[in-house]
Amino acid sequence: MELLTLRDLFFCAGNKIILNRLSLTVAACEIHALIGTNGSGKSTLASMVMGCEGYTPASGDIILDGRSINDLKIHERARLGIAMAWQEPVRFEGIGITEYLTLGDSNLDPATLLTAVGLEPSLYLQRQVDRSLSGGERRRIELASVLGLKPRLAILDEPDSGIDMLSTGDIISVVKRFKDNGAAVLLITHQEEITHIADRASLMHKGQIISTGKSATIKAWYKERKYQAGNGEE
Ligand code: ADP
Ligand code: MG
Repeated sequence: MELLTLRDLFFCAGNKIILNRLSLTVAACEIHALIGTNGSGKSTLASMVMGCEGYTPASGDIILDGRSINDLKIHERARLGIAMAWQEPVRFEGIGITEYLTLGDSNLDPATLLTAVGLEPSLYLQRQVDRSLSGGERRRIELASVLGLKPRLAILDEPDSGIDMLSTGDIISVVKRFKDNGAAVLLITHQEEITHIADRASLMHKGQIISTGKSATIKAWYKERKYQAGNGEE
């Protein structure tokens, strides 16, 4: 059963085509890796599925559970179970970590969420989301908050990126946690090492999905393309 179907999405910014008739499906409970070089349009796609302001497709459909959600706003999509961890974490400067993790549901146990992302609760529960946290700690806390939302579809945009990035092992354990909770995960990355935990993977290039299949196959394709391009860029 398809949870998410993207059909023929087209999107321009200025006079540049960013998404070029992109189609993709994510099944319920599936871990689907989306891999592609920088600038291929991955974050744009993520923002469009989440329903962020300014990311309305020029044409094409975003379908959840067989129904178009094109006209739904970000909070309406959140209510239907879509959640996203951003490539650039949103700043909630000054809010307590405990408060941040229980914003959506005061019954949640923040300690359990912190443990799930590899943080020792006693070291963080009394702290604030502020500059004293490293980039990696912020990313973990953001992932913990997305876990706490108990989404049906979690979009994780490059959880492996950043200065003190999460290790492949960290990502794998968080993604497994989502899966155990019954969520599907769209796992966006430009690191092919991450893709092996995926049930399927798709390769994105210049705003299109050029291949979907087993992650090992897609990983090989991706490496080949990088090799041809010489430096991993477009
Ligand atoms: P990725 O996440 O795969 O690195 P992005 O979706 O961030 O790719 O960007 C895809 C392309 O769209 C890039 O060439 C980027 O410069 C361009 N782009 C993204 N957002 C905008 C915008 N608001 N205005 C103009 N160009 C944009
Ligand atoms: Mg990106």
